[in-house]
Amino acid sequence: MLSTRDEEEAEALFRTADRVRQRAVGDEVHLRGILEFSNICVQDCRYCGLRKDNHRLRRYRMAEGEIIASVREVKAQGLRTVVLQSGEDPWFTKDRLSDLILRIKEETGLTITLSVGERSEAEYRSWKESGADRYLLKQETSSAGLFANLRPGRTLAERLQSLKALRKLGYEVGSGNMVGLPGQGEEDLIRDIQLFRELDFDMIGVGPFIPHPQTPLAQAAPGNLPLTLKVLALTRVVTRNTNLPATTAAGVLDPEGRRKALLAGANVIMPDITPQKYREHYEIYPGKTKPGEGLDSVVRLISSLGRKVSQSPGYRRPLPDSGKRN
Ligand code: SAM
Ligand code: SF4
Repeated sequence: MLSTRDEEEAEALFRTADRVRQRAVGDEVHLRGILEFSNICVQDCRYCGLRKDNHRLRRYRMAEGEIIASVREVKAQGLRTVVLQSGEDPWFTKDRLSDLILRIKEETGLTITLSVGERSEAEYRSWKESGADRYLLKQETSSAGLFANLRPGRTLAERLQSLKALRKLGYEVGSGNMVGLPGQGEEDLIRDIQLFRELDFDMIGVGPFIPHPQTPLAQAAPGNLPLTLKVLALTRVVTRNTNLPATTAAGVLDPEGRRKALLAGANVIMPDITPQKYREHYEIYPGKTKPGEGLDSVVRLISSLGRKVSQSPGYRRPLPDSGKRN
């Protein structure tokens, strides 16, 4: 299926994934407001515009008061989950982030997802105890060689170890990959999908790689949407009830990207709720910030497909036929 050039065959796969999605998780689309609270990062991932060696990026770290105000705004807009995302920023120590999580939970009661990179088990534990519910940490690729090459000084084994530790601590765990990384072959993508199933993730983000001009991969070709949608659809078919976002990156490659993803197995959208003055500086890849891409347009997109915005906290639903998770 990944290598087929036959558009009808691909469309049939998307329809199958859409049926599996409908049966396993229904027509509701979960919205998770993403707050990019710091673009400071000690890592040097070769694909990412936030890498520490990108000296042209203006760095910011939101103050606690600004973060709380933004989270309150998320709640006022009716969203049930906030995703706190950042580079690997050591200023947010175990205790600082724990205090922030406690405050957010007490003041808003929102479901809290963390996406702050690879940290120690003691930190994951403390944040869970303070009220964090979910953690997003993409495996990025299941090829150990590619991983080591793209994330200097880090290994896939460590990343997978973190994912297992997070699961053990009781988080809902999200992983995912990038499609179209330079040096990635179809075998690697097949292994990604197999690993998604084996590790039974609660969420999986499948998005295209988009080159950033201030990175060593500036000249690389971007991932393509049809292949990304096929990986997404196959992920839906094999994992069934996992929550799968229609990624922002899919919408960057094609204005219809998120609509197409929602029709190929996706059931989550993560609207960006970062204050405008910071948003343009959270430039993981170019084109990420588009005017007019607010919550209203996301809600319109969902209704136009005859689907509805979920009012629940959006935990992974048990399968209707087995009572089991997967
Ligand atoms: N620092 C945390 C981490 O790496 O897990 C969270 C923030 S990081 C910017 C979030 C995700 O952005 C990564 O997991 C990666 O998949 C994605 N990303 C980074 N550079 C990208 C690129 N050039 N194209 C597409 N996605 C990219
Ligand atoms: Fe830092 Fe995450 Fe970007 Fe890597 S992907 S450079 S860890 S923000």
